[in-house]
Amino acid sequence: RTVYLNGQYVPETEAKVSVFDRGFLFADAVYEVVSVIDGKLIDFDGHVARLHRSMAELRMPQPPGREELLTMCRELAARNALTEGMIYFEVTRGNPGDRDFLFPSAELQPTIVGFTQNAPLVDRPQAESGVSVVTLPDRRWQMAHVKTTQLLYASLMKAEAKACGADDAWLVRDGFVTEGSSQNAHIVTKQGKLITHPLDSSILHGITQSAVLELARQGVVEVETRSFTVEEAKDAAEAMVTAASAFVLPVTRIDGVQLGDGTCGPITRKLRETYIEFARNSAI
Ligand code: PMP
Repeated sequence: RTVYLNGQYVPETEAKVSVFDRGFLFADAVYEVVSVIDGKLIDFDGHVARLHRSMAELRMPQPPGREELLTMCRELAARNALTEGMIYFEVTRGNPGDRDFLFPSAELQPTIVGFTQNAPLVDRPQAESGVSVVTLPDRRWQMAHVKTTQLLYASLMKAEAKACGADDAWLVRDGFVTEGSSQNAHIVTKQGKLITHPLDSSILHGITQSAVLELARQGVVEVETRSFTVEEAKDAAEAMVTAASAFVLPVTRIDGVQLGDGTCGPITRKLRETYIEFARNSAI
């Protein structure tokens, strides 16, 4: 693969980052994942805007501009013949040359990396069969709205879910589901309302969920923004996750409890189809 490192396109074996880079030593870094279908970028501007918001929250100077990132993404897709999959990019605070918790007050040159990953996004068996989740405590830091590379807790919870025989984890704080380990979580009640967590600092403000909820409100389903409990989720008619890497996928089992007939429900199916159509038509 050809990867991007600080303005250069290089073979992955030649891309080198210092061991003193703060991204490596402190997870002092933010990232984005943009999905690609038909060789085009989905929701690109939303991802750039969130990268800039994450950097501002962490007081990271010198955010890369939209045009630089767009060129990088398009070059990476072209050079790696990516038609369907993801582009990952990360910006670290940079390399101060030593290990020190305090970062220098003078501006560091940020480290910027990008790479592609092939993955089927549209045709996936899980779109029909659904995924199973187990609920686990949300012990992440309380700035989950900032998309940092501190992903160890999410990794541990995914491994825990696998060990329980499930596909993934839904995280729970004070009895309420916050979000999935790497997706936003939503339910559809038996009364036919889609319930979604408020956009506060306990969840990542998903770019996919923002588009999906907008489409939902345009006549698919009534949307109510509030947190929901694990019990409510198990009693729901449907449940789903949204993420750039998943689009919309049905959740058909929560802590071993089957929802509906155990396959994708009608509202989830409609939202997935509507989102894929929107993504195809608006990708750049
Ligand atoms: N929540 C978390 C914790 C995530 O890691 C992700 C995806 N990276 C999402 C939600 C979904 O966000 P998006 O739709 O922007 O991919």
